[in-house]
Amino acid sequence: MPKTFVVLLLALLFMAPAMAERYTGPIIDVHLHAGKAAPGAINPATGKPTTANTDAERQSLTLEHMQRHRIVLGLVSGPMDAMARMRAAAPDRIWAGAMLDDYGHPLPPIADLRQAYASGELHVLGEIGAQYNGLNPSDPWFEPYLALAEELDIPVGIHTGLGPPASPYGCCPKFSVALGNPILLEPMLKRHPKLRVWLMHAGWPYLQETKAILYMYPQVHVDLAVINWIFPREEFHDYLRALVTAGFGDRLMFGSDQMVWPESIPLAIEGIDSAEFLSDAQKRAIFYDNAARFLRVDPQADAAK
Ligand SMILES: [Zn+2]
Repeated sequence: MPKTFVVLLLALLFMAPAMAERYTGPIIDVHLHAGKAAPGAINPATGKPTTANTDAERQSLTLEHMQRHRIVLGLVSGPMDAMARMRAAAPDRIWAGAMLDDYGHPLPPIADLRQAYASGELHVLGEIGAQYNGLNPSDPWFEPYLALAEELDIPVGIHTGLGPPASPYGCCPKFSVALGNPILLEPMLKRHPKLRVWLMHAGWPYLQETKAILYMYPQVHVDLAVINWIFPREEFHDYLRALVTAGFGDRLMFGSDQMVWPESIPLAIEGIDSAEFLSDAQKRAIFYDNAARFLRVDPQADAAK
């Protein structure tokens, strides 16, 4: 073989991985959190302390990462005061959600929620961390909230699947693995056929049950938050590929579940962008289109941001 040909061939071989298209379009992050900083908290993916050392830094670094990575809309949940500060700092990029957190703070009363949705202070219901509180989202405690969300056509994000390892021995003695099973949502989905529901964390590790719910209830979506950066990459890609090959590529939404680690936002993006089995169109659907459709945002308005 002529030398130049060999050199060219080798060059092409080395270039091949870099030639896979990286996603450069807009992103909607349907799963962010606001609240107090946790200085020194070790990022479970990097093994390094968080980059946010103060409450103000947690917010400013999150907004900086959003800007840098073209996240045109972020759905945030956390304490009301922290969400209000974040909305004030980036009013066209932040939607706030009423949260049932892992520390037992109850949801606001129905009348307060109704007012907050009317005023635009809140946009969605979630994250609903029922699993952390030993609660089943299909049980009566949640029913008035679901009725309100259905009446006002408010999207509802329910935490499913997993929590930080050893949570039952620490923050959350009522946590139960079984209560993270998406199959538990079936009774509420039957009672509220018009409700826009998404399974946060895509039901991991309950793949079969997640597929069953997505197949039978075509309105249900999922987000890929936390599993896209905290897990070994291969485990996440296996799970993602299973959902895509099962035909649910148009119901998967990007989320980071940035908590006290703003630097997890690019890690979460990379988790999806590195999936070589995804086409450019599938990436675009996950990063933006599916959420834009589910949340009914105006892509033209987003493009102007
Ligand atoms: Zn969660």
